Amino acid sequence: MPEIRTVLQGFSTSTTEGNLSYCGVTLLRGERVTLVDVGFQGRQALLIERLHAMGLEPTDIDRVVLTHAHWDHALNLLRFPNAEVVIHQDEYEYVQHPHADDWATPAYTQDILRRASRVTTVADGEELESGVRVMAVPGHSPGSMAVLVETPEGVVGVVGDALPMRAAAMAPVPSARLIFFDEEAGERSARRILDSCKFVYPGHDRPFAIDAGQFRYIEPVSMTVVNPPRDEDGTVRAAISEAEVPFETTVQPIARRRT
Ligand SMILES: [Zn+2]
Repeated sequence: MPEIRTVLQGFSTSTTEGNLSYCGVTLLRGERVTLVDVGFQGRQALLIERLHAMGLEPTDIDRVVLTHAHWDHALNLLRFPNAEVVIHQDEYEYVQHPHADDWATPAYTQDILRRASRVTTVADGEELESGVRVMAVPGHSPGSMAVLVETPEGVVGVVGDALPMRAAAMAPVPSARLIFFDEEAGERSARRILDSCKFVYPGHDRPFAIDAGQFRYIEPVSMTVVNPPRDEDGTVRAAISEAEVPFETTVQPIARRRT
């Protein structure tokens, strides 16, 4: 059974000047040294620093599993030159000709995948190593998938944006926050994750446990904001609002809607 560790926690923190939307990066250390998702360049230095702290060089990573090919999960891919890249076959096919209005899958994604040392496509249920398999969870994107790890405490799912945050699990109708492919499929996929997993490592939040219908975070979080915007006289002009924006699923214009 692989050891599962958070390398970078996922966030979806809103500001009035845009979202701090970072995906989580998860390390599975078993038969292979695997990263599930790799984030984008804005967090690359921090990712490498955290790996170093775990005794790993980028060249030690021999497999990268992409829960899906969105830019914020995939763009650091080439930082891991020895990694076999594992992606769902439907995602791989979609990336060859993404919709022109799909702002999460830029056309150059296929170029990045082409430059990877090796790409392996997988389908629902395929085993990556003993006790580790993939589960197709389409909806957020055409070929979104979760990585399921059997542990003595129960199944751990690293699920990407099919269930991106704890609030998505707690919503009246659990789903992805953004639907780029298919609304109904997104709801089915979220349900499948909740039915299959005891622990969820979501795309943009920290891991949580599912206990008798309750959802409990299992990692502490901390964030310190430095270099806040200041006036000429040095007065800090950043405010922290306690406001909670309620979770909501937004269906993108390119996606199939519930009929
Ligand atoms: Zn995404």
